[in-house]
Amino acid sequence: MSYINENFLELQESYLFSTIAKKVAKYTEEHPDKEVIKLGIGDVTRPIPKACVEALHKAVDEMGTQEGFRGYGPEQGYEFLRKAIVENDYKARGIDIAEDEIFVSDGAKCDTGNIVDIFAKDNVVAITDPVYPVYLDTNVMAGRSGKFNSDEGTYQNIVYLPVTKENGFKPELPKQRVDMIYLCFPNNPTGTILKKDELKKWVDYAKANNSVILYDSAYEAFITENDVPHSIYEVEGAKDVAIEFRSFSKTAGFTGLRCGYVVIPKSVKGYSKEGKEAEYNKLWNRRTCTKFNGVAYIVQRAAEAVYSSEGQKQIRENINYYMENAKIIREGLEDAGIKYYGGLNAPYVWLEVPDGKTSWEFFDELLQESNVVGTPGSGFGPKGEGYFRLTAFGTKENTIKAMERIKRKGC
Ligand code: PLP
Repeated sequence: MSYINENFLELQESYLFSTIAKKVAKYTEEHPDKEVIKLGIGDVTRPIPKACVEALHKAVDEMGTQEGFRGYGPEQGYEFLRKAIVENDYKARGIDIAEDEIFVSDGAKCDTGNIVDIFAKDNVVAITDPVYPVYLDTNVMAGRSGKFNSDEGTYQNIVYLPVTKENGFKPELPKQRVDMIYLCFPNNPTGTILKKDELKKWVDYAKANNSVILYDSAYEAFITENDVPHSIYEVEGAKDVAIEFRSFSKTAGFTGLRCGYVVIPKSVKGYSKEGKEAEYNKLWNRRTCTKFNGVAYIVQRAAEAVYSSEGQKQIRENINYYMENAKIIREGLEDAGIKYYGGLNAPYVWLEVPDGKTSWEFFDELLQESNVVGTPGSGFGPKGEGYFRLTAFGTKENTIKAMERIKRKGC
């Protein structure tokens, strides 16, 4: 008989996106004449930049020739891409990261999920509430969560850091010692950011407690304000305590192509139970070589093209397009008298559900009265109740139309 990994039994079914899909399908079936606008999804809609398309074509052609054919590549990513990442994402910002501290992957979801492999089971994990669910669920799978308390909607051994309007969506340092801290800025779902001095508090905490910060900056390319850090390594001391996740998904429309990377400086150390120090970089390298055979050559060439001058211009055009949508959403909500957060340095706008309704009540009302779909905040954690997420990834025409309907509805 084989036995299952019982940690999986502790996972809570996530009905969020399937419930949304079901409700929308039912509504459209009953009202075929209505045009429903979806501002709920977190997926991009604009095509990948021309520079990446050209790089893909070129790489495909290369693969069809004897000289250009490539088989298995380096598990950690091709040198050309690691170099481009180091030069453009780090050196250009005055950050010193070595090429062998970069691990190219098929996206930040896999990286933020798989990273749990290199940490001890009894580490105490802190996550924000609300949160991108991958951080939580992968720790449940790894056996770090303890039992689920259905009254509270929380796990026994997880330290939750509420992010609400009361603290300006800036998590407060935990009262107890934690070993692994997940931070995501610009944030999904709240669209809010941390400034350098606010991030410094976390770096100092991690240093003082020998903790590791798992910093997801998948949305850094959407930062529009000058004084917002794009990388946690802009903060002094972060190279000793932080692992950073990046993705080409939202930056360059790679959600379907799949490419991202994780940065693990050699100075980030953990300990064995006997107190022996070890580099997380070495552990991750070992894991990567054992479990991963690298990202497709053609995809890595497309990612490299993101850093070309044409690529940079083209991704900027797409990002500006989305951020213009974010502005339309913000202005629309202002006109409708709805309080909102985010949307300035992130493609997400987090609104406060009016009149004390729940997130789901507001979802239903918006679907039925305005034919607009968003994401109920409660789906991202208990403290997301009373909030609602709209995304800037739709078309400009639909975003304008959706906001006009919301304004007309009046809240
Ligand atoms: N991290 C955050 C915060 C996200 O919102 C997402 C996707 O929505 C990801 C990571 C996943 O990125 P990728 O497409 O690179 O797997």
